[in-house]
Amino acid sequence: MLQHKGVDMMSFQYNNILIQMLMVLFPIILYLALTNDRQTIKNEHSYWGYICAITMGLSIAFSVKLDDGIFLDLRMVPWFLSFIYGGTAVGIHVTIFFFVIRFVIGGTGMIPAFIVMFLSSFVMCRFRSRFHHWGRKKKIMLSVLFLVVSSASIPFLGTILLEQPINFVRLSSYVCFVIANGITVWLTIHLMESYREKKKLLKEIRKNEKLHVVGQMAASVAHEIRNPMTSVRGFIQLLSLSKNMSTAERGYLNVCLNELDRANAIISDYLAFGKIQDIEKLCHVDVSSEAIQSIKSLSSYSVLHGVHVSVDICDRAVVIGSPGKLQQMFVNLIKNAIEAASPNGHVNVKIHTYNQQVEIMIADDGEGMSAQQIENLGLPYYSTKEKGTGLGLMVTLQIIREMGGHWKVSSHLNEGTLFTIMIPLL
Ligand code: ADP
Ligand code: MG
Repeated sequence: MLQHKGVDMMSFQYNNILIQMLMVLFPIILYLALTNDRQTIKNEHSYWGYICAITMGLSIAFSVKLDDGIFLDLRMVPWFLSFIYGGTAVGIHVTIFFFVIRFVIGGTGMIPAFIVMFLSSFVMCRFRSRFHHWGRKKKIMLSVLFLVVSSASIPFLGTILLEQPINFVRLSSYVCFVIANGITVWLTIHLMESYREKKKLLKEIRKNEKLHVVGQMAASVAHEIRNPMTSVRGFIQLLSLSKNMSTAERGYLNVCLNELDRANAIISDYLAFGKIQDIEKLCHVDVSSEAIQSIKSLSSYSVLHGVHVSVDICDRAVVIGSPGKLQQMFVNLIKNAIEAASPNGHVNVKIHTYNQQVEIMIADDGEGMSAQQIENLGLPYYSTKEKGTGLGLMVTLQIIREMGGHWKVSSHLNEGTLFTIMIPLL
């Protein structure tokens, strides 16, 4: 709210409030309508910053002027949104933008506006860091409260500092604008939150769709491969019955049979993918012994990559699952960690129980991942390796879900990665 040489107090039109609300809502609705939820916009935050700056500019350009030069507008709303959905840096830029245009307009009214905006920016930084952890109801309620308090404090401070006379029309227009601020922020937060929830949901659905397609494809391919393999196995068995064969030749046939069985086991895993595990296949599994077994089977692999694998078992943990699948989970995760940490790196596997759950932590000091990479983890065929299949983590995630567990990934580029898996105890 600004000081300005102006129009008669009685000329204050309450329907101007509606124009103000439109000025604030229009760019935001346009943004929501134009951003396609399939594409992710590059520099989304700066894009949002521009939207907020334009909205703020429009709001100030169409402000309602009172007779002694007080400007009433909803600029606090885009300013608030710039912090919430753009981040602190974007918020500070929009604040600076406001200071500049406010300075250009001039007038004594800028002093209370500057003081309030400056102080609110500090509060906003803290508010923002908590905002995204709240539920939608709390977000809306506290945002409305914040906006009402901060937008009321400008005329309040102005009245005290500039010793303005207070009368009924002035007071009622202040009250109207404070309420308009509250309503507009309620509406915008509501719109933004619904949009973000929808976007998140769509992402999840697309991810599941892909997994479903892979499951179907894997099942049909695996099924087709199994038939010729069965006949190959039969003929090899017949061949091994032959009497005129050297011990070495018999050894080769055994290797063939073992490898065929291994291939068959892998196919079974893919066939199992996407299907709910049979109840009778589940049994009590000791997590630590499966971990040790997996590390043992990877020992030559880790030596080959020059990576040292250590294990800390703090508690004995028994879960319901299948031993083979649990081992497959460990092997996939530890193998990735070895590949990321190689050469001369360290991988640590820690198992402890916590809150009726077993917590498995697999840490490496390898190449780490960017936020974008972390988001893609578990998607079929997502791999950054030349010879990667991008199926390992997809299967792993499926196994974890089957056991009623979940995972957390924290990673920093060139520092390392920590996979934390939580599975409910027996
Ligand atoms: P693959 O190992 O065949 O590439 P995965 O599904 O096992 O497929 O892993 C997918 C991708 O996830 C890897 O290509 C790699 O980029 C990333 N990744 C997985 N684990 C780690 C890790 N511990 N450190 C860094 N990147 C990892
Ligand atoms: Mg892998």
